Amino acid sequence: MKPPRFRYADPTTVEEALELLARHGVEARVLAGGQSLMPLLNFRLARPAHVIDVNRLDTLGRIAPAADGGLCLGALVRQRALERSALVRERCPLLAQALPFVGHPQIRARGTLGGSLAHADPAAELPAVMLALEARLTLCRATGERTVAAGDFFVGLLTTALAPDELLTEIALPAWPTRTGSSVREIAKRHGDFALGGVAAMLTLDAQGRVARARIAGFGVGPVPVRALDAERALVGGAPTPSALAEAGRLAAAAVDPVDDIHASAAYRRRLAGVLTTRALTDALSAVDGRVA
Ligand SMILES: Cc1cc2nc3c(=O)[nH]c(=O)nc-3n(C[C@H](O)[C@H](O)[C@H](O)COP(=O)(O)OP(=O)(O)OC[C@H]3O[C@@H](n4cnc5c(N)ncnc54)[C@H](O)[C@@H]3O)c2cc1C
Repeated sequence: MKPPRFRYADPTTVEEALELLARHGVEARVLAGGQSLMPLLNFRLARPAHVIDVNRLDTLGRIAPAADGGLCLGALVRQRALERSALVRERCPLLAQALPFVGHPQIRARGTLGGSLAHADPAAELPAVMLALEARLTLCRATGERTVAAGDFFVGLLTTALAPDELLTEIALPAWPTRTGSSVREIAKRHGDFALGGVAAMLTLDAQGRVARARIAGFGVGPVPVRALDAERALVGGAPTPSALAEAGRLAAAAVDPVDDIHASAAYRRRLAGVLTTRALTDALSAVDGRVA
């Protein structure tokens, strides 16, 4: 099916794109990789009067080291470029671990980081990864910019804090602490399908081998990606024993609010959240100090 008619613009500067967004507001949609927007148009689930193609905004395609040891990622960086980046593997292994789960290589070759975050599919991997990493997102409009924590960005099903005249331009990932391991676990019907449920987890140990920090974010288990805060708190200060990781799984399952749909029941998804949390934490523990799970 062909998309409905729209007016097309392909600005070459961020300023020009923001001016177009300011002018057209709710009548406009940004086109990045098109991997979610084009199906929405073709199925007539979106009917924007204006499509603003941002693919010529080269300044938004960078993967750069940040001075604090973290990463600065342009919103337009392709998912495949992130997956192949040695800098991402070195500075943010959790992101590198998540990317192979995102669709298929052809989709990742076009799909962008910013597009995945702005689309905010509840079963998508990258929003949950951003939550676990405590990423900060820069949202620009013609009159200025603001920075939003990932925890405040995902506000509901396919809904974010982005206003109609705002463009997501940059994602900042904080430095990766030493003695940290991470993992992404998910269950999908076939590899490359959206997950029925999944978990991104990070574990940082102190010099005595106790848990100094834990991050657990679930996806596909509610309308937005969800941090399992009680599970994280229960782990901190204790030894990462199998029973502690199992208890974290139990607490993570209690933290999620999944729904029944044609793919899986809510009860199955809740169980997945618990089981996958324990498995992801177990992987993360064995990956501390660069040991591969
Ligand atoms: C067959 C198939 C399987 C897939 N499987 C998975 C999967 O398993 N996991 C997964 O996470 N994803 C999956 N995807 C989705 C894929 O990751 C998309 O790339 C992603 O959701 C959207 O990125 P995009 O760059 O293509 O954005 P687009 O499709 O261009 O845009 C998506 C939405 O975000 C908005 N937008 C895009 N960029 C910006 C910006 N910078 N500022 C403001 N708004 C913006 C657009 O206006 C639109 O509303 C799949 C897609 C397909 C087609």
